[in-house]
Amino acid sequence: MKILVLNTGSSSLKSCLYDLGSQLPDNPPEPIWEAMIDWSKHTGYAEITVKLHQEKNIQEEVVANSRTEIIQRMLATLWEGETAVIHSPSEIDVIGHRVVHGGNKYQQSILIDAEVKQTITELAVFAPVHNPVNLEGIETTEKIFVNVPQIAVFDTAFHAHLEPAAYTYAIPMKYTHQGIRRYGFHGISHQYCRDRAAKLLNRPVTDLRLITCHIGNGCSLAAIRNGLSIDTTMGFTPLEGLVMGSRSGSIDAGILIHLLRQPDMDVEKLDRLLNRESGLLGISGLSPDLRPILQAIAEGNSQAQLAFDVYVHSLRSHIGSMIASLGGLDALVFTAGVGENSPEVRAAACQNFEFLGLQLDHLKNQQRGRDVDIATEESKVRVLVIHTQEDWQIACECHGYRQSPK
Ligand code: AMP
Repeated sequence: MKILVLNTGSSSLKSCLYDLGSQLPDNPPEPIWEAMIDWSKHTGYAEITVKLHQEKNIQEEVVANSRTEIIQRMLATLWEGETAVIHSPSEIDVIGHRVVHGGNKYQQSILIDAEVKQTITELAVFAPVHNPVNLEGIETTEKIFVNVPQIAVFDTAFHAHLEPAAYTYAIPMKYTHQGIRRYGFHGISHQYCRDRAAKLLNRPVTDLRLITCHIGNGCSLAAIRNGLSIDTTMGFTPLEGLVMGSRSGSIDAGILIHLLRQPDMDVEKLDRLLNRESGLLGISGLSPDLRPILQAIAEGNSQAQLAFDVYVHSLRSHIGSMIASLGGLDALVFTAGVGENSPEVRAAACQNFEFLGLQLDHLKNQQRGRDVDIATEESKVRVLVIHTQEDWQIACECHGYRQSPK
């Protein structure tokens, strides 16, 4: 079964092809083809990279006239030229799309039809940056892969079982009825980490209290009990919760009211300030990327130190809040760019939870490893580093659909 996955973002698009048998393997296999479009490197150009079996096969920079044309060009490398892995588009069995916002309506993955596309369009009011480009990916592939079933896999769906106490904001209920509530995001990654953690710990998901920490450019936590997400830090939008690379995370809403009253402020500027100019970047004045911040700290830069300290303070206090929601903790899982690669952040986050009997093995924490337990044997809480594989999770959803169409 050939499953194509598309993960379309505003400045980049990632796609991959899995070739699977009727049974899903225990461990995620390598895709047989991987491609990426990066629109952010040079204005007016797009860079297309195609990899086969971990080798970088082709890379080209093309004039970025139309996004659709570039996506078509990238997809054509599946059956044309030296990167061809199929003979024609009709060989693809199913296509999975990451869709950021599924609103109240979609609590699980769904076969895309005209109504689903219409709803994704309507939900763009809640996710104006993401849903329109997700739809663009869907509409481009449906023209090429005619009659191939396409599945929408929502980043919000994993959090669909939050209780009203966890998803309701304390504002007049008429706004809740308009859809202003906590949705939560990164659900595809949190779900993958839940399943992978259960496998690594050799325990059923229903038996575990987990906190999955997705810490990358965007950052969110999920509190998972009995396999369900019962609390999460992102909210109505991906801006809430943890301090992130360039997003502020939660701040006093009174600050927004104050800023909007200033003569030189408007809604667009405020949006840019909170989403693109804040977080690690805003405090350090250096970068949204943790690596140059750590470098600057080593060189004695006090603003970089403050950025790191605020980041860690936010991470610890949100982990504390997730523990309170769970009423205990069996495993803390770190994933995504920072979570998988920064022993400094993992150590700092864990330090204040030693009172729970959590003991980090500092040697294991320093070693690079994927899908490893970095707690000491005596630790009462396991600490896992898991390489998140959102594309694989999307492929699994599509595989389930092909086996038993919903
Ligand atoms: P992601 O959104 O998951 O791709 O994560 C991207 C972020 O991961 C970057 O902006 C960095 O802050 C962080 N990151 C990646 N590699 C490292 C590393 N070796 N050490 C610290 N942070 C890293």
